[in-house]
Amino acid sequence: METVDWHALTSSQSFEEVDSGVEGLSREQARHRLEAYGPNRLPEVKPRSPIMRFLAQFHDVLIYVLLVAGAVTALLQHWLDAGVIFGVVVINALIGFVQEGKAEDALRAIRQMLSPQAMVLRDERRTTVPSEELVPGDVVVLQSGDKVPADLRLFHSKGLQIEEASLTGESVPVEKCTGPLGRATVLADRCCMAYSGTLVTHGQGSGIVIATGTETEIGRISSLVAGVEQLTTPLLRQMAQFGHWLTMAILGLASVSFTFGVLVRDYTASEMFLASVGLAVAAIPEGLPAIMTITLAIGVQRMASRNAIIRRLPAVETLGTVAVICSDKTGTLTRNEMTVRAIAVDGVDIGLTGTGYDVHGGFVVEGQDYPADSNRVLMQALQAVSLCNDSSVVCTTEGCETSGDPMEAALLVAGIKAGLDIDTEVKQNPRTDLIPFESEHKFMVTLHHSHEGESFIFVKGAPERVVEMCSELRTAHEDIPLDQEGWLQRMEVMAAKGYRVLAVAVKPAHESQTELTFDDVEDGLILLGLFGLIDPPRPEAIEAVRICRQAGIRVKMITGDHSVTASAIARQVGLVNYDGVLTGRELDKLDDRALHRQVLDVDVYARVTPEHKLRLVSQLQDNHHVVAMTGDGVNDAPALKRSDVGVAMGDNGTEVAKESSEMVLTDDNFATIVAAVEEGRTVYDNIRKAILFILPTNGGEALVILGAILYGFSEFPLTPVQILWVNMITAVTLALALAFEPSEEDVMGRHPRDPAEPVLKPLFLWRIAFVSVILMSGTFGLFVWEIDGGASIEQARTVAVNTLVMFEIFYLFNSRYITAPVLNYKGLFGNHYALMAIGILIFFQLVFTYFGPLQTLFGTANINLETWTRIVLTASTVLFLVEAEKALLRYLYFRRG
Ligand code: ATP
Repeated sequence: METVDWHALTSSQSFEEVDSGVEGLSREQARHRLEAYGPNRLPEVKPRSPIMRFLAQFHDVLIYVLLVAGAVTALLQHWLDAGVIFGVVVINALIGFVQEGKAEDALRAIRQMLSPQAMVLRDERRTTVPSEELVPGDVVVLQSGDKVPADLRLFHSKGLQIEEASLTGESVPVEKCTGPLGRATVLADRCCMAYSGTLVTHGQGSGIVIATGTETEIGRISSLVAGVEQLTTPLLRQMAQFGHWLTMAILGLASVSFTFGVLVRDYTASEMFLASVGLAVAAIPEGLPAIMTITLAIGVQRMASRNAIIRRLPAVETLGTVAVICSDKTGTLTRNEMTVRAIAVDGVDIGLTGTGYDVHGGFVVEGQDYPADSNRVLMQALQAVSLCNDSSVVCTTEGCETSGDPMEAALLVAGIKAGLDIDTEVKQNPRTDLIPFESEHKFMVTLHHSHEGESFIFVKGAPERVVEMCSELRTAHEDIPLDQEGWLQRMEVMAAKGYRVLAVAVKPAHESQTELTFDDVEDGLILLGLFGLIDPPRPEAIEAVRICRQAGIRVKMITGDHSVTASAIARQVGLVNYDGVLTGRELDKLDDRALHRQVLDVDVYARVTPEHKLRLVSQLQDNHHVVAMTGDGVNDAPALKRSDVGVAMGDNGTEVAKESSEMVLTDDNFATIVAAVEEGRTVYDNIRKAILFILPTNGGEALVILGAILYGFSEFPLTPVQILWVNMITAVTLALALAFEPSEEDVMGRHPRDPAEPVLKPLFLWRIAFVSVILMSGTFGLFVWEIDGGASIEQARTVAVNTLVMFEIFYLFNSRYITAPVLNYKGLFGNHYALMAIGILIFFQLVFTYFGPLQTLFGTANINLETWTRIVLTASTVLFLVEAEKALLRYLYFRRG
């Protein structure tokens, strides 16, 4: 498209330019244009080329050590050893390459589940479509919280403010306009334009799409979307550091043993060099980094399958440490399926029958059917809530479908039950202006001019706010002075039943009034009545709250609703302290010190605004709690960012909230947060299990070589290539199986982990040392037995390698649970991957032992059945010894605790 100065055109000129109008495009037109212009997306950052990704696998200190070892071995003309070392390094890189690629693909696929949506006019109806399907000429409706999906020329703006930092670097939102501007106006001042990728922070507006995809301003600047996130978390970084430290220690140990061997044990330098290489190779956990990454990626996938999409990887780990979950009420703890159950108008409390959004149902008073149209005030109240409403109900012979805010839809359903024809009402009383609902002011106002020449303002909102603005009450015959106290009490009676209560009021307007301001509704309103709506708790949320209690996680409900409603719902979902409710007003009166103390005890916060949420998170964090906080609106962004795990609603949340959070719930359900915490704890467990499994293997092997040097053996029990074989083959079979380990039964029975706790705590170091010694004793012992029995060195080594591998197989079972016993059905057969991995490993060991070419390559030899029996018996000891150690630990722990 040629460059057009869109900001200098009037809206009608820009409609002409893109061959469209205020009514937008038809579906057919949009389809054609999509073919012509292509999808509205920016090309992704080119992933690193496969070659670069492969080469990056070698960029690791541990691998450098191996490469140097291989090179020197080659210089010493031990071609076979050198060849195998290089071969193993390459295979290791290949495995890392494939696994990392898979993990990246999985994460990308998960991220794509979060593709943004846009509200457009198609066939003159508002519909939500994936932003990718936008085309020039589409009319887009913007609301606060949206991310602008394409470049737009605005033609309607109601208090529209947009934050354009992504484009201009300026983080203060810009007020938008609709009129044409001078040609020379710079981008940051083009108030009649909305640019793709910027965020709507306030108000509403509409614009016509003038550019999509790479044609947009942001597309021209970068033509790239955010890069692929690195596959790392604090824990992995901590382990990488440990890896560096370990490498240094290993190099030190290898040099010391080299010197010792040459000087004290009279080995030749070349012999000792090979032994030191063996030692280094033995002690380096080559497979560990890849296994940890895979475990993490599997965790993210599991979370996605349970409806929790991770946006930032470190959150996977943080989730496991969450001690407090602050949750919204509506839609998260409750179903967000509202039904009007009660209406209070002058002199009468009316009940409503029927379920959900089904329009069948009626009105009852004191158990008797009540004809709604006999009560003029009731009908007016229903008319008011139907017109002061942005939702819609479309009824066909098959039933009715609602769209928009569920609470407003429920109000429409109540109107239909009373016999109102909503479409006719809307046509006869067109809306001239609107003050949209915002949680800050907690009401919504509309201005209407009827065809009969009447003009009036409707207000619906939180009862305390609306009643405060009313001075009169509408009764059947006249408007009388309002008893505010009495009505607030009526409201509390409804709220105590768990109803969300709304008040509705009317005010006559002047015929010439076409705009609404807040001053219009400050006073002089006439109260029509109160509406009580139920929104039952989600059964799975009740269960999740119970699980949290067991898991030592405190649940706090933070709601914009009234305190009485909030405490009724809190009781229904099973919160412990549902009585001591703090309201937003009370929060304002508390200084930080007082709140610091109270925030621990109080679990229900009512009539709060998003700013309060930020204070609550900060105070909880000051109390050293790791906090997860939910949010959906644009104003929740600071609290979401501040919390340790910001949780946005995928269904009803704004794009701004999603961008500010670590995790997005595709089902908006509280239970999903708890599921994600469970997975977070499991991922951490599984990473620790992998560490606890892999390190003793290296420890055992290193001890075998050290032992041989100390005793001055002329032949070492394991050659470097054999050691590499063991490390590799067990890493890709057994250790990988641990990444798939399901959650332990008591994973949600423990208290949250202390985030400051180091991975390698004393218990771990002890276990690693204990198992290393067992592995070493068995391997060394059987090697010596074979030599003493007259076996060849090849046979004795084959026995040593197989003993090590068998040890690993048995130890894998121990490693499935860190302290719980495994000598039971679940412990032995609970992980199918483990059993499969063992089968594959045994097959490989047989090939390694008996297959001619591998015998030449690895220096192995045939061994007989009796020897195998000895190996299996010896190796099985680890299973029982570690189980005995765990039992002792549990005993000591319980005695102490
Ligand atoms: P929760 O935390 O339970 O999700 P919330 O934060 O969504 O609640 P708000 O949406 O801020 O709560 O609503 C606060 C109050 O504002 C409600 O109790 C209700 O009285 C009123 N209210 C909510 N939605 C509307 C609306 N669309 N029009 C008018 N008033 C509304």
